[in-house]
Amino acid sequence: MNKVAHYLQEHLSGEVVTSVDALKYFSTDGSIFSITPSIITYPRNENDVRKTARFTWQLAERNRFIPITARGLGSNTSGAAIGEGIVAVFPAHMNRVLELDSKSGEVTVEPGLNFGKLQQALHTHGRFLPPYPSSLEYSTIGGAVATNTGGEKSIKYGNISNFVKGLRVVLSNGEVIETRRLSKKELSKKLGLSTHEGEIYRAVDTLIEENHELVDKLKSFATRTSSGYNLAEVKHKDKSFDLTPLFVGSQGTLGLITRITLETEAYTPRTTLVVGNCEQIVQAEAIVSKLREMKIVPSAIELIDGGLLDFIDKTNPNLIKNLVKKPFPGIILMVEFNDPNDRAQAKAAKQTKKIFEESGIQAKVHTDDVEKNEIWKLRDLASSFIGFGESTRRALPIIEDGVVPFDQFPVFLKGIYDLFKRNNLVPAVWGHAGEANFHIYPQLDIAQLGDRQKMFRILDEYYNLVIALGGSTSAQNNDGRIRAPYVEKLYGSEMYILFNKLKDIFDPYKILNPGVKLGVGIEDIKPILRSSYSLDNLHDHLPRA
Ligand SMILES: Cc1cc2nc3c(=O)[nH]c(=O)nc-3n(C[C@H](O)[C@H](O)[C@H](O)COP(=O)(O)OP(=O)(O)OC[C@H]3O[C@@H](n4cnc5c(N)ncnc54)[C@H](O)[C@@H]3O)c2cc1C
Repeated sequence: MNKVAHYLQEHLSGEVVTSVDALKYFSTDGSIFSITPSIITYPRNENDVRKTARFTWQLAERNRFIPITARGLGSNTSGAAIGEGIVAVFPAHMNRVLELDSKSGEVTVEPGLNFGKLQQALHTHGRFLPPYPSSLEYSTIGGAVATNTGGEKSIKYGNISNFVKGLRVVLSNGEVIETRRLSKKELSKKLGLSTHEGEIYRAVDTLIEENHELVDKLKSFATRTSSGYNLAEVKHKDKSFDLTPLFVGSQGTLGLITRITLETEAYTPRTTLVVGNCEQIVQAEAIVSKLREMKIVPSAIELIDGGLLDFIDKTNPNLIKNLVKKPFPGIILMVEFNDPNDRAQAKAAKQTKKIFEESGIQAKVHTDDVEKNEIWKLRDLASSFIGFGESTRRALPIIEDGVVPFDQFPVFLKGIYDLFKRNNLVPAVWGHAGEANFHIYPQLDIAQLGDRQKMFRILDEYYNLVIALGGSTSAQNNDGRIRAPYVEKLYGSEMYILFNKLKDIFDPYKILNPGVKLGVGIEDIKPILRSSYSLDNLHDHLPRA
């Protein structure tokens, strides 16, 4: 065990591990990358996190740089849960619900808590957290907040950033801060502090004031995004101020989250699901654009294409045989309503059926739980399709999260199909149709040079398409390492400089998850490609084909 690990072992109450097996296990996440860390820590409490950060800060002051990567359950597909130095694994000990107010629905938790467990606890109080990822059973709430996740309900509720009320965060120098929206008066107190916290408040406030036109531009971003840093939500017109939006979606690059307070929504277990099959993109687009105009907002508008159904059928026909009949339709559209009022749901379902009929499609309304579960199984199958494959080819998460303004829906989807055709690949698409946010997994063999070259060609063509259509490279899975080379192109160089200045304010020694979000080019990610792709680290939690 090296000196740093030895020091940490002596000073932390949680475990410190440097065994080859552990380092190998934590060298991958859900992405196509691999980086072997040098030390694994399992913080038992906030003090452990604080001591780790303080120690690495002191080393950095003496020109010795040991990065820290926070980690939940490592399901991130952008390569943000791996790193060279210390990987701090939160789910082992820091995994409790600390407070749940069943009246207001406000809940305070530790970051390592499994998202699925939190959701179960909330359900028993008639509440739920709507922006849950489809990976909720094998991911943490800390990972979700640090990534700014979204999911099937995001058409109605947006990303998790809309639900985070406050945080406790360990800063890069080991200081602990609490964030929440502050009044002008409370802000002026913070601005007067002589601590690192005070420096941060002063520097962020100045950065926003000096660049307010640029910061305002972030607000005009047409689509939901988890890319970059959410500077636009820090200072409001009434001069109130909140650092929380910066940490949400920062992928552990600005601070280490130790406590999260969230708002929740009333849970309606009774839902109505309307399902219809389309043959053409234009049909689907026409239907979805009318659905988006409805008074009762659908709680989900999901799409699965025939290419994906074909692929699942080829890989493992048993998985799909009872869920959808052959020949598979071109596109399946699923529309859900969760309005608390049953009559409102019935009315919305009738209206939705009519919208489908106007495009010549007979849609079916489902209220029976067994039927609905079967249909959602199909959607869940689509979402867990990463890593499926024949022989050594795997469905890779490399272009899985682009989102464009809704009026670009048909151009985007056609652009995706053309891209696959040009590259001799079979398209397989699913996603959140209501927001033109599609998940696409090209099937490639990462070990083959030809496929690797193709992969980088696809990456470039795809992200250029998304940016050209005025979209965001990431609606919910964030920049990480894979999309970091496109952040500057997405936002422009002025904004990119601003993001870098912000990073410097919080993390001047670049200890926190370096190589994620900023300062990364395509050439930097090529050497860290895995030689084969799998989601081995999730086998405990995720049924695989
Ligand atoms: C099959 C599959 C389906 C998925 N579906 C969705 C989906 O529907 N929607 C979606 O948004 N995502 C989805 N994801 C991506 C991923 O599962 C989510 O982003 C999830 O919330 C990550 O949680 P985690 O615990 O695995 O975090 P990790 O992967 O361990 O970490 C994610 C990021 O959070 C940071 N982090 C973790 N804990 C902390 C902390 N305490 N302080 C600071 N930073 C921290 C890490 O450094 C990293 O940058 C999917 C992934 C897979 C493999």
